[in-house]
Amino acid sequence: MNIVIFGPPGAGKGTQADFLVSEFKLLKVSTGDLLRKEIEKESDLGLEIKDIIDKGQLASDNIINSLIEKLISNNEYANKLIFDGYPRNLSQAKNLDLLTKKYNQKISCVLNLSVDKETIIKRISGRQICTNCGLIFNRYFKPTSNINHTCDPKFLIIRSDDNQNTIINRYETYLKETLPILNFYRKQNLLHQINGMKKIDQIYEEIQGIITSLEA
Ligand code: AMP
Repeated sequence: MNIVIFGPPGAGKGTQADFLVSEFKLLKVSTGDLLRKEIEKESDLGLEIKDIIDKGQLASDNIINSLIEKLISNNEYANKLIFDGYPRNLSQAKNLDLLTKKYNQKISCVLNLSVDKETIIKRISGRQICTNCGLIFNRYFKPTSNINHTCDPKFLIIRSDDNQNTIINRYETYLKETLPILNFYRKQNLLHQINGMKKIDQIYEEIQGIITSLEA
């Protein structure tokens, strides 16, 4: 099954996607992570992307669509993908539709995590990412411990776009460009609404229920 996990920045998409990856053996496709990898290369493209990300805007559809096609076309991951942070606008959603058809796959469900603006800001300001294992933590809501994280704490970083100014721009971009996609998926009966304000494990329980009912 291919899943789209949808919601504003800071909704907990990456955290919930990590749980799904380990339980259902899926591959997480985070376009944000893919772009950050390009930035690490310090290529011209990477510098261009960094500038866009730090302004809270969206990278070009061409860059994103070619990254996505590489993954969807790979048979090894067929119907095992969970998209986190993609699609981000209507044109990407339509492209995802074309690509899934082209490679004989489909989107099984779109999980929409809804969270209010105040919570988003609080969540993002506490977010820490491990550059070694990729797991996402939060100083307030999901702190690291010896049980949930075994990498050296030196790998924990705060993303450069996780600051008050950029987050406001990212939220505005979400409202303007990303939110309209919901109607596209609603019309296809793929949309599942989830209250993303609950505790992390309660949200995951709800998601598990949805996925299990789809598998039945
Ligand atoms: P994320 O890690 O999903 O919060 O993404 C971080 C930033 O990467 C976003 O604010 C955008 O600038 C960029 N980005 C991530 N995914 C996409 C996408 N699908 N389309 C365009 N830009 C993206």
